[in-house]
Amino acid sequence: MSLRTYQAKRKFGKTPEPRGKVEPDAEHRFVIQKHDASHLHYDFRLEMDGVLKSWAVPKEPPTKKDVKRLAIQVEDHPVDYIDFEGVIPQGNYGAGKVEIWDKGMYVHKNIRTLKHKNSKVESFKFELKGKKLKGEYALVRLKDKNWLLFRV
Ligand code: MN
Repeated sequence: MSLRTYQAKRKFGKTPEPRGKVEPDAEHRFVIQKHDASHLHYDFRLEMDGVLKSWAVPKEPPTKKDVKRLAIQVEDHPVDYIDFEGVIPQGNYGAGKVEIWDKGMYVHKNIRTLKHKNSKVESFKFELKGKKLKGEYALVRLKDKNWLLFRV
């Protein structure tokens, strides 16, 4: 795991975001940060492998079943980012307001790589224990950085 992409995109003298480092012993926390950047979106992050695996969700994450949201995987973020709220100043990457929309613990259910015709389908399931999002969710990889997030 590496934070090189995350750090390369940011000027840490100019943004209040943490520089961060890869943490060896991660807990299983998640956060969803509402990010009012050039396009409002929700950053969904799972603490995993010493970093925050991250997806940008263009629409509000679903609290009910039968709603599937596109989730675009973005660069791994440092674990310190889990508490980040604030305003990223204009002229910086991701400029705009960041606020925590939901957070809590998650429980891993399974990780699978399914063979489907010629392509690999990656998916994982987890239970979210947030204030807004509670229950079993899945992330299923469609293609490249595009995933679907939905409640199971
Ligand atoms: Mn964002």
